[in-house]
Amino acid sequence: MIDTSSQTIVIVGAGPAGLLLAHYLLRRGDRVQIYDRRPDPRQVAPDQQRSFPISLQYRGRRALQGIPGLEEAIAEYSVMCQGTYLHRKGKTRRILRKHPILTIDRNRLVLVLLEQLVARYPDPARLSLTFDCTCQGVDSQTQTVSFQAADGQSFTVNYDRLVGADGAKSCVRAALVAEHGLNCQQTYVPDAYKSIFLARTNPQQGVELAPDFIHACNMGGDARILLAPQPGDQMHGAFIFNAKNSPFDGLKTKADVLDYFAARLPTFRSLLSEAEAEALLQRPTARLTTVTCDRFHHGDRILILGDAAHAVSPSIGQGCNSALQDVEWLNQLLDQYQDDWSQVLPQFSQQRVVEAHALRDLSDYSFPRSKALVLEFFLRLTVGRKLHQWFPKRFSPFVFDLVLDTDLNYSEVLRRSQGWINKVKRSMLAEPAPAQLSQSLTR
Ligand SMILES: Cc1cc2nc3c(=O)[nH]c(=O)nc-3n(C[C@H](O)[C@H](O)[C@H](O)COP(=O)(O)OP(=O)(O)OC[C@H]3O[C@@H](n4cnc5c(N)ncnc54)[C@H](O)[C@@H]3O)c2cc1C
Repeated sequence: MIDTSSQTIVIVGAGPAGLLLAHYLLRRGDRVQIYDRRPDPRQVAPDQQRSFPISLQYRGRRALQGIPGLEEAIAEYSVMCQGTYLHRKGKTRRILRKHPILTIDRNRLVLVLLEQLVARYPDPARLSLTFDCTCQGVDSQTQTVSFQAADGQSFTVNYDRLVGADGAKSCVRAALVAEHGLNCQQTYVPDAYKSIFLARTNPQQGVELAPDFIHACNMGGDARILLAPQPGDQMHGAFIFNAKNSPFDGLKTKADVLDYFAARLPTFRSLLSEAEAEALLQRPTARLTTVTCDRFHHGDRILILGDAAHAVSPSIGQGCNSALQDVEWLNQLLDQYQDDWSQVLPQFSQQRVVEAHALRDLSDYSFPRSKALVLEFFLRLTVGRKLHQWFPKRFSPFVFDLVLDTDLNYSEVLRRSQGWINKVKRSMLAEPAPAQLSQSLTR
């Protein structure tokens, strides 16, 4: 076993991946310093602008379960969902999942991970946290990272190991691209989104959404809403639309927003307050980026993980699941190679890059993008599922059941679903710029 008791691991990014990693590393005996450009979430009101519900299945939940008591703490602020209701043109369809899905607001997840971390490791010599500072660059020769604080002051810190968990626009990754020949492709997906908050019930109008289901609705065109129940009878979600065809381009006032909902989805109109209609109008639109890299490490000292290494479209809800799984995987490799980072990091790249590339394909091509495939998609979701139950040897589960109800590696899910994935890919080549009809609808 290599003695790592004196090593300092600097983590850039206090998102789900960075914070869970800190839990694992501190348990191993490392010293950890975390830096994040956002304010300390314990000291500011929750940011409603860039918040959305995250659903975690097997992969993400198992990574949380690796730290005793952590999932239980998170579950206090979560709702366990049994599946999804699809709402479309006044009709609903229920898709049950085999195993409950943990749904939680992204910022709440971060807050609980952070609170648990400081409660467990109060000694500042072992864990230090610095917020309001933006990573500016990495110098691998001197093993330093530079930051700029909110007041404009710059400072540098030394690291023994450096982990970039700083999201899709990672600065650590940018340094590896600029200085160390990392190949990375970064693309915008057509989707953009705004956070949205609805009531779950409207007793006056006799409207009530099932409390333990995710609700997904197609608003027509490319627009769709994905809502997860939150503790306290609120629904929290993302209003997703094609950035080039935003419904908000034609909505100028609160009344326009209310009319839009009334025309497309009256049930949801009755759950939308006037205040939220106004807030929705004012909330900024966020764009979504995907990231594909050919490796996730440099030498034996620098690693990137989570969205920094492999951001994907949220269409099948696996970004956070896979980010948390990265951490569990890294921990297993540290066990296997007795904390020898010179062996662990290349192994991590070798094993996780293939998974990340498979996840990218699954995220891009699981949903049909052409109207011609939509019918087949729903048949596979419903009839196909029954056929698999009756004749398991002849009919394999559909891609969503493999992603959401098993812990198979993404590369294996892709292998078993290659026929469907290729079909969607081909249809996209045949029909460029199609409607993304049902993305996000079946989590
Ligand atoms: C609308 C939507 C819905 C989603 N739904 C799901 C879902 O249901 N299930 C699921 O598994 N995934 C989902 N995802 C994806 C999920 O949110 C991400 O995959 C996950 O948050 C990745 O975690 P992370 O810690 O790697 O990165 P992030 O969550 O992006 O955290 C990165 C952190 O780094 C900090 N940072 C960034 N740059 C710097 C810098 N230069 N210096 C210092 N700090 C920096 C940021 O402030 C942030 O705190 C969804 C995403 C979206 C947009």
